[in-house]
This record gives sequence, structure tokens and C-alpha cells, in this order.
Amino acid sequence: MKLVDPIIAFQSEIQQIRRDLHAHPELCYEEQRTSDVVADKLTQWGIPVIRGLGVTGVVGIIKNGTSERSIGLRADMDALPMQEINTFDHASRHPGKMHACGHDGHTAMLLGAAKHLAEHRNFDGTVYLVFQPAEEGGAGAKRMIEDGLFEQCPMDAIYGMHNWPGIPAGHMSVVEGPMMASSNEFYLTIKGKGAHAAQPHKGIDPVMVAVQIAQSWQTIISRQKSPLDTAVLSITQIHAGSATNVIPDDAKMVGTVRTFTWPVLDLIEQRMEEIARHTAAAFGAEAEFRFRRNYPPLVNHPAETRFAVEVMKEVLGAERVDDQVEPTMGAEDFAYFLQAKPGCYMFIGNGEGDHRDGGHGLGPCVLHNGSYDFNDNLLPIGSSFWVRMVEKSLPLAG
Ligand SMILES: [Zn+2]
Ligand SMILES: [Zn+2]
Repeated sequence: MKLVDPIIAFQSEIQQIRRDLHAHPELCYEEQRTSDVVADKLTQWGIPVIRGLGVTGVVGIIKNGTSERSIGLRADMDALPMQEINTFDHASRHPGKMHACGHDGHTAMLLGAAKHLAEHRNFDGTVYLVFQPAEEGGAGAKRMIEDGLFEQCPMDAIYGMHNWPGIPAGHMSVVEGPMMASSNEFYLTIKGKGAHAAQPHKGIDPVMVAVQIAQSWQTIISRQKSPLDTAVLSITQIHAGSATNVIPDDAKMVGTVRTFTWPVLDLIEQRMEEIARHTAAAFGAEAEFRFRRNYPPLVNHPAETRFAVEVMKEVLGAERVDDQVEPTMGAEDFAYFLQAKPGCYMFIGNGEGDHRDGGHGLGPCVLHNGSYDFNDNLLPIGSSFWVRMVEKSLPLAG
């Protein structure tokens, strides 16, 4: 690996910041302390900041030379509403809140890059360091855009990365095109007519209607969209009734739909609604159907992905780079940035969990698990990658 030497030299300082953030996790749009830590560090290193985009968002701006070119690098800052079961010194001090997705590490890696870029200024152009709130379901990226991120910070392209347990530590993976899915929720209520369970003919059984709809919905995935289009429809809750001998008035079903493209999502949403309405009508019941689109599909732009792969190979060595990673049906709000600007989102391997020191919980070191911890060995790797991205994308003249 070709890491940036000065970054290795201040690794312990960045690790300290990472562990401090880990110990003080904050949820969506409540990242006040985290936002202060980020802004204080940037200011201390002589980097001007814009605050308040997306409530707690922070953007650091480093300008050098005269070039009009610019690049955006993004880290997310929020934690999850779950209990940490690790007991090491930097375990969460806030019950019920935990950095179980490694956003503490993402923030620290970008701070490491910021410190180096501010000190060495080996580039010609403008770097925007985007620290966003509320990635975990709060659409912090969208909020920052709505608050004027790209008007105040007109960047040519934007890049982001997520640590990924299961990929070897210090490897990076990416794929051009769709890499993460759109995430969507649906809510269905079947309104039937309650009756004595021994006299079903006197009512309209909403449970039977729900069962029919549940079966038919899966045929959208298996029979109605092209088999070459990836999509998943999962019913995750079915609620009805309260007794063994009462047919209830209504039944509810909720769940999630994931797709990589808009046309497939449009098709699924429309067919779900039609199947629910017509099936209910066929049994004399009524269907109330609501479909909510959350994060859009995350689609990596071709030129920016090729550029990121070049930098990965240079920093990590070609043998540690996978440019054909299998897309995941998970969702990520960086997708909003990629709808507005060219760019690329990538994974950096967090390893198999063998970076554990004492006090680690017994569970697997995977995302959204109470035993997870970000792998500190990645800090100089991620920071070096960001620095080389900037230096290669905004090269000094001559
Ligand atoms: Zn997460
Ligand atoms: Zn995450």
C-alpha cells in the first residue's frame, strides 16, 4: 500500500477522535456535539466551515491555487438507536444509542484527510468536506441539498465511502451503475366485516383477503417484471384479530420494496395497489393502500467510478481493489447526492472482525450489531485515499 506518510504519523490523534465520537453517539439531526467536534477540529486546522446545512451538517472548505475545479468528499455522522454491548473504554456513554454503522470512523477518516490537505495543500482547486447528519433513515443528504449545499458549494463531483464488514480490511470495492437499492415502505389495511368465527358467511373475512393479496403480490416479482430486473418485496408484519373465535373487522400488512431502477419501482407500486384494490373488491372488502418512497437507488456514475478505481489501485495496490462488487439491496442516502451531481460511492473493507481488542461483545462485528466496532486500522487508509483523490482530481499545474 502507498499510504500518505504524514497521515500515518498522526494516526493516533485521529484514532482518539474516532473513539471519542464512538463514546458519544448522537441520533438523526441531534448530532450537536459531533458537529461541534468536527467544526472545532476543522477550525483549529485553519479550514473555514459552513454550519447549519441539514440542521447539524458541517462543510469544511479548503481552497488552493487558482483553478475553478472542485471536488466534494462526504462522511456521515449519525448513530443508531440501539444498545451497545461492547465494554471497552470507548463504548457508548449514551444508553440506547450506538455507533453501530461506523459513521464515527467515516467522520474520522475525512477529518484525517482534512488535516493533511490543509497542511500540505498539494492541489489546485477547491475541496468541500461534507459532514452530513441523519443518514440512518433521516435523509440528511436530501436535507443538506434542500438547504442549498450545491449552491453554496458548487462542486464538480462528490464521493463517499462506507466501511463494509466481510470485505478484507483495507480492500476497496465498487461497481459502476446501480450499487445500492431504493428503499420503500407499504401499508395496507383490508376492511372487511367482523362476525362470529362459527358464522363466517355473516361477515367478510379480511384475513383471507390479506392472504390472497400476500400471495398475489409475490407474482409481481416472479411473473410481472422482467426476470432480469432485480427487486424484492417483503411483507414484514401482518396484524389482525384478537381472539380465536372472532373474525376481525380488518387486517393490516406492511413491509418493504427494494429496486435498483425507477421503472421497476413504478411497476411494483402500481401493481401492488391494483392487486390489493381488485382482490379486496372481489371478496366484498375494501383496501386502503399507502406506498412511501424513501431513499432512491444509488447509481454510480461511470467516469467518476473509473477515476475512483484508478486512485484505489494506486493507493491500495490493484490486488486489493474489486471494481465489480455485487450490488446490495441495502439503501443509502448518498443516492440523493448522486442524483444531483456526478460521483461515486464505494465500500472500504472493515475485515472479518479480527481487529477486536478487549471488551468486545460476543456478537459478530457486523453493521447494526451491538458488538460492532469500526476498525481503526482503516483510518490512515481511508484518509490516504481521500487525499490522493483530491490531489489526482485537482492536480497542481506543471
Ligand atoms: Zn447503517
Ligand atoms: Zn452506515
